Amino acid sequence: MLRLRSGALIPYEHKRGRSAGVAGAREAWQTDRIQVAAYAMLIEEAHGRQVPEGRVRYHADSITVRVPVDDELRAAVRTVIERGRQLREAIERPPVTSNDRLCPRCSLAPVCLPEEARFDPETDELPPLRLLPEHARGQTLHVMENGAQVGRSGDQLLVKGRENPDIRLPIVEVGQVVLHGYAQITTQALRFCASREIGVHWTSFGGELIGSLAPAAATAQRHIRQFRALDAPEFALGLARRLVVAKLEAQLRFVLRATRGDGGRAEELERATEQMRNALRRAAHADSSATLLGHEGTGAAAYFAALPYLLVDDLDPAFQFLGRSRQPPRDRVNAILSYAYGMLYREVLQAVIAVGLHPGFGFYHRPRSSAHTLALDLMELFRVPVVDMAVVAALNRRTFDPQADFDELPGRVLLGEDGRRKVIEVLERRKADVWRHNVLGYSLSYARLIELEVRLLEKEWMNEGGLFARLRLR
Ligand code: SF4
Repeated sequence: MLRLRSGALIPYEHKRGRSAGVAGAREAWQTDRIQVAAYAMLIEEAHGRQVPEGRVRYHADSITVRVPVDDELRAAVRTVIERGRQLREAIERPPVTSNDRLCPRCSLAPVCLPEEARFDPETDELPPLRLLPEHARGQTLHVMENGAQVGRSGDQLLVKGRENPDIRLPIVEVGQVVLHGYAQITTQALRFCASREIGVHWTSFGGELIGSLAPAAATAQRHIRQFRALDAPEFALGLARRLVVAKLEAQLRFVLRATRGDGGRAEELERATEQMRNALRRAAHADSSATLLGHEGTGAAAYFAALPYLLVDDLDPAFQFLGRSRQPPRDRVNAILSYAYGMLYREVLQAVIAVGLHPGFGFYHRPRSSAHTLALDLMELFRVPVVDMAVVAALNRRTFDPQADFDELPGRVLLGEDGRRKVIEVLERRKADVWRHNVLGYSLSYARLIELEVRLLEKEWMNEGGLFARLRLR
């Protein structure tokens, strides 16, 4: 705030907290003095008038402290600006502050994750504070009707359908927009989304991601740090091992949990869980990506062999699962899984881009087709908790109609429009479910969990690591 006092322009800064100093000799904190002096110097430059002082209002004390802008303070401002320039040009980011009282109210806390950076699960008794919001910002707007168009109307997105009534959504309620099939978006709506950092994604009818306009954090230094770290084969293998172990363990725990209480487990199921245990043990010591891929494949084959035992006995026989088949899906369960994994890939990709990492430079998957390898890597962590668990539960609740929700073609089964809609509903509900992190001890939605894991991955090459891929199903 700028005020005119006795003919002089005076910048005011308002703080919610308390001032420094003691009763009768209250002072502004040094950081606040520098801030208000920087304002003064900017005003001098813009208006060509000297600004002799600034003032800081501390609302918790209900006092205003005067800050003379003298030569010493001006020199301190210049030193801080120079330090800022050096930091901006540096590849390495400075470590989180050791003064943890500064962090809870810092606006950077949700991206900096200082509590997680300081947390050591082996020695710390108290879990870290959650400074990341529990839920993701806004909801995902899926536009599925052919020819429907997303436009802008004031501060709202307006979806005009051919058959369905118009839908208006305030932009503050939208986190991302997904255009399925031949849904359209106007340039005005695209610009509106871009200006609000809202991702827009185009997917095929089959759920495959075609392209994205995703908001990205400033990235050059981040990309350099990422490339340097992931270019080191041993480091990349270490991360891949943790990733695969987390995935195999999730598969095993899900199977064991879902079949608990089945007194005499079927022989085939017992065999499958034993194979999964073996794959898990071996993956933990794999000495190359190729070996790791082998163990992951063995574990996955056993997991999918066990999957039919997770479905209720009286489910319609049309939902018989014939083992995992990707392209094309040969049965209804595979059609649902393939579509859902496509949706998950898009979620992970958006999180990777939003955090500021390069999605095409991963540590496990080899580049193939146009898929982004880092997004493929990270989605391994979420296949079971976000997709498989939600899909199996939905099948067992008889969410899907075996006839109306699918198109059966020679050698392949595809989801029909209603089926796709149901999968999306299942996944959106799952993303909003809240889960308590087994190591960090705090709760957050699965949508946020995806973002958290991307941020924890980045910490692995910033000397603040140790927490990536530690999530485990209970
Ligand atoms: S949250 Fe991060 S940027 Fe903010 S004060 Fe703490 S360490 Fe510094």
